[in-house]
Amino acid sequence: MLDLLIKNCNLADGRSGVDVGVQDGRIVAIQPALQAQAHETLDAQGQLLSAPFIDAHFHMDSTLSFGLPRINQSGTLLEGIALWGELKPLLTQEALVERALAYCDWAVANGLLAIRSHVDVCDSRLLATEALLHVRERVKPYLDLQLVAFPQDGLLRAPGAMENLKRALDMGLDVVGGIPHFERTMADGAESVRILCELAAERGLRVDMHCDETDDPMSRHIETLAYHTQRLGLQGRVNGSHLTSMHSMDNYYVSKLIPLIREAGVSAIANPLINITIQGRHDTYPKRRGMTRVPELLAAGVTVAFGHDCVMDPWYSLGSGDMLEVAHMGLHVAQMTGQDGMRACFEAVTTAPAKIMGLDELGIEVGKRADMVLLQAGDPVEALRLRATRLHVWRGGKRIASTPARTATLQLEGRPAQVDFRK
Ligand SMILES: [Zn+2]
Repeated sequence: MLDLLIKNCNLADGRSGVDVGVQDGRIVAIQPALQAQAHETLDAQGQLLSAPFIDAHFHMDSTLSFGLPRINQSGTLLEGIALWGELKPLLTQEALVERALAYCDWAVANGLLAIRSHVDVCDSRLLATEALLHVRERVKPYLDLQLVAFPQDGLLRAPGAMENLKRALDMGLDVVGGIPHFERTMADGAESVRILCELAAERGLRVDMHCDETDDPMSRHIETLAYHTQRLGLQGRVNGSHLTSMHSMDNYYVSKLIPLIREAGVSAIANPLINITIQGRHDTYPKRRGMTRVPELLAAGVTVAFGHDCVMDPWYSLGSGDMLEVAHMGLHVAQMTGQDGMRACFEAVTTAPAKIMGLDELGIEVGKRADMVLLQAGDPVEALRLRATRLHVWRGGKRIASTPARTATLQLEGRPAQVDFRK
């Protein structure tokens, strides 16, 4: 007797009309016409049963703080960082926990069940670290939260950042972060990458750095990151976030750089909503898009994910934890509008970030934890087109969120009474 049987599902890998059986929190069968009894049976009616959405790049310590203490007028990265600096002394642990939990509620409702959040550790109180460690425990039953020790004001630039970062890791943060392009000089940036990679190697941790988040074609920190990854044997454990300067780099140099990234097993995370709004701000026209070279990285075999980065904070006033919105923007900015390109964009918010975060438990495969999302769409491309409704969300086989199907009622002579925007 199964706990749950979902009949007639389409899967993101192209299989259609299969039944999925769940027992003791795990997927135990995926096959057509599964003959089994279950405590609960659901007909998916040929809709897409997907692995959960995953956001591998987020800032949960600032989320939902929009307007505190004021609004970012220029919309630039630098005013955002300055504004965050004004907000930091005003933060309380209770308010931070409350906002993070509220965001996790939105995430779950949107089928987003794993988030890697950077945590600013440039505050000797380590208030955000304590708050988010608490949140990580609170949400554990329904959401995997991975926390990056992020020296937002620069490891070498901000007084005490190194000590605070080590203390935050001692307290239990999971990943070593960095921000080499914000250090005082290119040389200091490179030095911060060396120090942080060595720290991660010593402690057996993963690395995820904000790297080259500028329009400067001469920014070279991703090269340094790939170099130290290779030197220290950290292949498969290191990620470069943003990499927006790659957009502006010389093409000849990039033809050398991408194979180095691939060889070092460094993954990449682009943040399309943020990159398209924050980069190119000093340009007149033509204006650069400023997102990293996603199709070229993918073609070289580099794992690439899309992150949300910000929701209603000093840098970005929009967003709702919807990773389909993120992927939708990503495919437009990268001009990945072919069928394979769009499928890759769907993977960039599901399977690719799982790989980057080392979440081996996730995926629609026999033996994996039954974390699943039923979408009101037939396949990944339709899901992207419609930013499809998450009809049901399961964690370990237990349903944790549902949303009614989206249907509009029409009152038109001689036309159908309802439309759901599916062809
Ligand atoms: Zn970020």
